[in-house]
Amino acid sequence: MLLKNVKPVSNSHKVTDTVDIRIKKGVIKEIGSSLEADKKEKVHDFKGAYVSPGWMDMHVHLREPGFEHKETITTGCEAAAFGGFTAVACMPNTKPAIHTRDVVEFITKKAESLAVDVHPIGCVTKERKGESIAEMADMKEGGAVAFSDDGDPVYNSQVMRIALEYSSMLGVPIINHEEDLDLSRPGHMNEGKVATRLGLDGTPGIAEEVMIARDIMLAEYTGGHIHVAHISTKGAVDLVREAKKKGINVTTEVCAHHFDLTDEEIEKQKFNTNFKMHPPLRTQEDVDAMIEGLVDGTIDAICTDHAPHAIEEKEVEFIYAPNGIIGLETAWSISNKRLFQTKKLNLQQLMDKLVYKPREVLNLEIPELKEGVKANLTFFNTDEEWTFSPQNVRSKSKNSPYLNEKLQGRAVGIFNKGQLVLNELR
Ligand SMILES: [Zn+2]
Repeated sequence: MLLKNVKPVSNSHKVTDTVDIRIKKGVIKEIGSSLEADKKEKVHDFKGAYVSPGWMDMHVHLREPGFEHKETITTGCEAAAFGGFTAVACMPNTKPAIHTRDVVEFITKKAESLAVDVHPIGCVTKERKGESIAEMADMKEGGAVAFSDDGDPVYNSQVMRIALEYSSMLGVPIINHEEDLDLSRPGHMNEGKVATRLGLDGTPGIAEEVMIARDIMLAEYTGGHIHVAHISTKGAVDLVREAKKKGINVTTEVCAHHFDLTDEEIEKQKFNTNFKMHPPLRTQEDVDAMIEGLVDGTIDAICTDHAPHAIEEKEVEFIYAPNGIIGLETAWSISNKRLFQTKKLNLQQLMDKLVYKPREVLNLEIPELKEGVKANLTFFNTDEEWTFSPQNVRSKSKNSPYLNEKLQGRAVGIFNKGQLVLNELR
């Protein structure tokens, strides 16, 4: 297969001239200019799109097993491919939860033939109940890449201490959904002026920050690796920045919507439940702090917290709606708008957040863009205007704040596991 007219971006490439890439049996055979197609060789012309090693989203909810009416491993991977991701790590709040090796293996088996690599994240505690530690070593053997009770925090400090001790023994991160539930409940949006105007109970930033402070202290004490999930407040970024300076083993990620939207949207959009997620949309000051954290390296990775919900589940009053939005298909356009077009990050720096750091955090092999290696590639542009119309949603659910929005920049395809997936607009 010959992929023509692509501009390579990676750690080892400055954005250079257009090249062609020849792939045989899933391996990059040749990278060069004006390559001639062999007889019978399939040719696809990318017409000047960028190509990078495949992107990874380290925080998604694929909903299978148990909630297949929201998403399946197959549809979730279709959404991932449409968003330019060749790999995802999926959270364990399924039914059954990913708390035994069986469930880990069920997921990897289901994903085997798909173009997207699926890396299960196992539960920290049995049944995600927060009480006794799950069989982490066994799950790791089965393919789990990290541990988390996401959806809920690991609330008990002693449980977190033990989990972090296992983390340092097993060499895997503990990913915590950072929320002090006593401070946050029954919040439906960010605590602040907008919540007051709307008469909704708020979740204060301090609920997130208190838990992060605890986890940083426990990581320092145990030597374990804490990964702060979906960071969302300025105070939280400050905490992680200081901890990193002290050499504590802490990493973090930010969802695209948290460096784009604020709590003002809930008022503007008249309680549209596709603006409800946890952590909630915060203030402009917090949004600015996310971008600053990405620029100075405090925030390692860009993720989506892709959280599909069926239409009937979200079509209820704001306070009754479940938290979460889909994000895989729009993360690149948002990153392009807020980080690249504004010149906050160049393409190589963006690739660091999308290709390298997520896999470094999870100790995964990092794909390369060179001859002789398995082709694991993302093709994307920064200028194409397109509409995220319902027919363009690949996820089984459509709960996106960007639905029907005009966006700029699109992932036009991926290549992984010997499969070329082209993202045609419908
Ligand atoms: Zn979470």
